[in-house]
Amino acid sequence: ESAADAIRRRIRTIPDFPKPGIQFRDITTLLLDPEGLRFAVEQMVASVEGPIDLVAGIEARGFVFAPAVALALGAGVLLVRKDGKLPGATIAEDYALEYGTDRITIHADACTPGARVLLVDDLIATGGTARAAVRLLRKAGATVTQAAFVIDLPDLGGADALRGDGITVRSLVAYE
Ligand code: IMP
Repeated sequence: ESAADAIRRRIRTIPDFPKPGIQFRDITTLLLDPEGLRFAVEQMVASVEGPIDLVAGIEARGFVFAPAVALALGAGVLLVRKDGKLPGATIAEDYALEYGTDRITIHADACTPGARVLLVDDLIATGGTARAAVRLLRKAGATVTQAAFVIDLPDLGGADALRGDGITVRSLVAYE
């Protein structure tokens, strides 16, 4: 069994969540399984090239993987949070949703200029969230050239768009 298959069979698909027509890829079943969790983290770590200073995890499921990957890389963890959650001075970036916009934030002093940051999340779909995170981290002076996801939905084009932003994008499994 390939690592990708081992991870894929531990991911559950929930139809019509959060709304009709959406096939929600649910990683909670992957996390419950010690081997699945270990595989996923090991594969993410193995995909990284060169030294990383900080692993930026996107709220909320990116927070699950970021610390495990960071510990293995000898890096710190930077939290990319929804608006209104961080206590200190923040910088923000907005991104378009199907209806309306959303906003993510980081602490303004979260990274020193030139810090090499790896972006991590559970899934990339349209790429709206990840691309906004890259813009935000770059605004803070970070050097962001790599991103790692458990799941890619390539038909939605997010990974390609992120590549267009100068990011090497890696994912463990893809769902067409
Ligand atoms: P994007 O901004 O369209 O790329 O959507 C990616 C964001 O939405 C990530 O933070 C994901 O956690 C979340 N997301 C979208 N679809 C799914 C899904 O099917 N399963 C889990 N998370 C999802």
